[in-house]
Amino acid sequence: MIIIAGFMNKLKMWNAQDCQESEKAWDERASQAAKQHPLKMLKQMPSMPGITEETAKNLKWKSLRWMISHDHDRYVLKGFFKHPLKYGWALLKSAFKKKPYLRDGDFFYYGVKTEREFKKLLEEPNTLFVLGFSYCHKPFECPSGRFKDDCIHNQENPVCQQCFIGKAVHASKQCEVIPLFIPTIHYIGGKIFEIVHQNPTKKILFMITACEMTLEMFGDWGNMVDIKGIGVRLDGRICNTMKAFELSENGIKPGLTVVLDETQKRMMDILLHRTKAQN
Ligand code: SF4
Repeated sequence: MIIIAGFMNKLKMWNAQDCQESEKAWDERASQAAKQHPLKMLKQMPSMPGITEETAKNLKWKSLRWMISHDHDRYVLKGFFKHPLKYGWALLKSAFKKKPYLRDGDFFYYGVKTEREFKKLLEEPNTLFVLGFSYCHKPFECPSGRFKDDCIHNQENPVCQQCFIGKAVHASKQCEVIPLFIPTIHYIGGKIFEIVHQNPTKKILFMITACEMTLEMFGDWGNMVDIKGIGVRLDGRICNTMKAFELSENGIKPGLTVVLDETQKRMMDILLHRTKAQN
């Protein structure tokens, strides 16, 4: 709960009563910052399949093996053994489905069928909303470092001023959100278990950015703990092979991923909806 309380201070920049104006002001300042301190960007958007054909084979098995063999701090194992029967049964049920999600463009729905249904849940008071960002779309120049679970989102920093993560985090300060900056799959798994177990009476909702391969590989694990939400597909230099995924999980990610402009708008709309529901 400390995380939430510390995060609910209101910022001057974003005004809950007029989020659209706040967003306009943010975008104008981002354009100014881009002229004075241009960031390293992708020269052109690569056209890559979400998952290569070879990697797609037996992906559920690869996912299970990765989860177990790389759980060095036992984050996931400890969480699982709090309710082994309940989690084991839910994992099995999800694993037997053809897909653990329903897809609508870059939005992958887990435990909900539509954006509208998810927005309805966001209106409920007894909910916690996890907003997660994969580290691979932090700018190369990120002052907190890329492969880190940290983000200073400093409004005075020209890099943060241009960063979509910074924008979304500032916008989310108008509503109750738990922000997470995700270096590895075990980090987010452990955090989700922690939040679920510390808040047994709350419904946990989430919106988390990730590569398509990760959304496919670990969807069953989200369904296992019965959290509902949206996985947001990243574009750009995504991981679409096991080798690239393994390197990325060890902090080796020379490429940059991006949330596409249209998808950024959809995410901001979700945050706006939560803000309106709570103010
Ligand atoms: S807003 Fe956060 S993620 Fe983005 S550049 Fe600043 S510190 Fe890095």
